Amino acid sequence: MDFDTPLFDTALAEAWIRSIAAAVEKEQDRLTELDSAIGDGDHGSNLRRGFDAALAALEGLQPTGPGAVLTRTGTTLISKVGGASGPLYGKAFRALGAALPEPAGPVALAEAMAAGLDAVRILGKAEPGDKTIVDAWTPAVAALRAAAAAGATLPEAAAAAADAAEQGARDTVPLRARKGRASYLGERSTGHQDPGATSTALLFRTLADVTGNR
Ligand code: ADP
Ligand code: MG
Repeated sequence: MDFDTPLFDTALAEAWIRSIAAAVEKEQDRLTELDSAIGDGDHGSNLRRGFDAALAALEGLQPTGPGAVLTRTGTTLISKVGGASGPLYGKAFRALGAALPEPAGPVALAEAMAAGLDAVRILGKAEPGDKTIVDAWTPAVAALRAAAAAGATLPEAAAAAADAAEQGARDTVPLRARKGRASYLGERSTGHQDPGATSTALLFRTLADVTGNR
């Protein structure tokens, strides 16, 4: 084991939330556009409100570990974001926080991300292929697990997960939505990238960025 390899610790968890908030601000209009095509156009503003509040909530917090940072983020998302994505991402971050040991290497992070995905699936009942958050999160967990099993470092594993999540988000374009508002459109939901899968890809890309910059 290379002891210079970065681990997912409290500072990295805080950096991740900051990086998500910045990415959501930058991509807000794109997320809104995607949600205007097959939903009600509020995904960008929902996440902006949620992650701005999550940042503010970290200000006064003296976290006991990376898990506490993510749990607080989840609680904040649940209380500040209406719509489907608030409770789904909120539960995911809470599950992630609860499952994360300190400090976490690639194997532990992969299992925590799997717990986050389970939380999304228990609440939202979406299957892979339903054109949701699950379609980006599922391949990201698979890539994290595969990289961790192969002995990858945290930055390598996170980069593989981000690539897989982005591919998963692109792969939602031809799908017909079977969950959430987009499902009301039936066949007309095809031909557009799912906003939630797109924001999930942002979560994994920022994770790769912050672990890689350590
Ligand atoms: P709302 O649909 O209430 O306006 P948002 O616009 O913030 O909420 O989020 C929409 C996204 O939520 C969708 O693009 C989809 O990815 C995700 N989503 C909706 N329902 C589910 C579900 N049951 N399971 C997983 N993800 C879902
Ligand atoms: Mg919406």
